[in-house]
Amino acid sequence: MSQTTPADEQATNYGGWEPVIGLEVHAQLLTESKLFCGCSAKFGASPNAHTCPVCMGFPGVLPVLNERALEFSLRTGVATHCQIPPVARWARKNYFYPDLPKGYQVSMFDEPLAVGGHIDIETTEGTKRVRLTRIHMEEDAGKSIHDAHDQHSLVDLNRTGVPLMEIVSEPDISSPAEAGAYLRALRCILQYLEVCDGNMEEGSFRCDANVSVRRVGAETLGTRTEIKNMNSFRSVERAIDTEIRRQIDILEDGGRIVQETRNWDADRGRSTPMRSKEHAHDYRYFPEPDLLPLTIEPGRVDGIRDALPELPRERRSRFVDQYGLPAYDAEVLTARRDLADYFEAAVALHDNAKSISNWIMGDVLRVLREARLDEPLVIERWPVTPEQIAGLVRLIDDGTISGKIAKTVFEDMQESAEPPAEVVERRGLRQVTDQGAITAAIDTVLEKNPDKVAEYRGGKDKLLGFFVGQVMKATGGKANPKAVNEILRARLAG
Ligand code: ADP
Ligand code: MG
Ligand code: ZN
Repeated sequence: MSQTTPADEQATNYGGWEPVIGLEVHAQLLTESKLFCGCSAKFGASPNAHTCPVCMGFPGVLPVLNERALEFSLRTGVATHCQIPPVARWARKNYFYPDLPKGYQVSMFDEPLAVGGHIDIETTEGTKRVRLTRIHMEEDAGKSIHDAHDQHSLVDLNRTGVPLMEIVSEPDISSPAEAGAYLRALRCILQYLEVCDGNMEEGSFRCDANVSVRRVGAETLGTRTEIKNMNSFRSVERAIDTEIRRQIDILEDGGRIVQETRNWDADRGRSTPMRSKEHAHDYRYFPEPDLLPLTIEPGRVDGIRDALPELPRERRSRFVDQYGLPAYDAEVLTARRDLADYFEAAVALHDNAKSISNWIMGDVLRVLREARLDEPLVIERWPVTPEQIAGLVRLIDDGTISGKIAKTVFEDMQESAEPPAEVVERRGLRQVTDQGAITAAIDTVLEKNPDKVAEYRGGKDKLLGFFVGQVMKATGGKANPKAVNEILRARLAG
């Protein structure tokens, strides 16, 4: 599963240069309504259907805070080990752009909601801690559409005022693969907390990457650039790698890095400058007069901490301890909360964790991927239930069917949605364990192939596989393979 690619897989060598990376993630909160008005926050409606005087910035209107958005952000801060200061303050970030009707974005500036947490990731050198600088809340801007008309641009304000959480890391990340591991770990935490769906393509989980390089061993940080507009994990890793190489080339040629914002073009595999520091915005932040400062009682933070669900890393180590799973299995299964729930529901019904894990990591995930159902949080649309997987493994374990026949039953269940035992009966797939029946099938095969029998007896051991195959074919794949092997060996020896 791609989410679990260890950070070391594409360990890159930049010949004497060390990349320094800090990530800013914008995560859309899974609230029904917008941050300061009652409009729907849902993605995909027709343009400007989800708007009202508040989110369109009409004069004289007043914002009312969505309490759930605050709750979700606090939950994230607590889950990522941040401190929650007693007071957070809203601020206006001023800039002029057609998709920002008020002329400012309500955000937070020097008094954010959460500070100083961390996220642990796995790398080749073991567990690495990436520190978080801060988490704050803000409202999203609208969307400009430039390619619908020749002469003019259009504006869709459905996204205006949708609640976002910005999560800023310290520059602790040292490679594109680590950046990918960090983003996957963060997304996984947000999904476990049920505060963000993590969909990068739809833009509910976006990342800006700050990148600089320095000579290995250097103390001071190099000049950074900020890359925007990557809409998949792969893009992020590629964009960062490309930027690292671009900077190294410039520095090795005796040039200097210009601090600027760059736009990633996935089709061309390169970034182009968007704006440089010289033209950088002066946002003229100032306190938002229409909203009270947020005072967070310590008791509220304790309550949130007590109510946190089990988080991905805890669940992973519990899977190893409780079910005796290999670390790799635990990693794959816990990479998604719904997958981990699915596994535990199946194991509760049939106590063979390793076998159930194999089925989920293999066939179940394959089918989900083929059906494009492996996007987050769609477990209710899965074609095969935990009950069916548990039942299937039970049929193998009690000898009713072989592992091979189980594949047939699995394929059938996706169509028929029947319990595995019913599929076995309907299609007559019960395993033949009866010695007499198997011996009869073997004798027929041996009689038909006297030459091969002679060759085998003359020392060509490899032919055993041929005989097994023929017997399985003759029994429609239903003969117990272990019994077939044993009886065949005995017959051929005699
Ligand atoms: P801004 O608000 O202008 O984007 P910040 O100080 O908030 O600036 O930094 C944004 C991000 O840039 C953070 O994730 C931080 O870790 C990262 N960062 C800061 N300096 C560097 C650097 N020299 N190289 C790489 N990343 C950096
Ligand atoms: Mg920035
Ligand atoms: Zn509105």
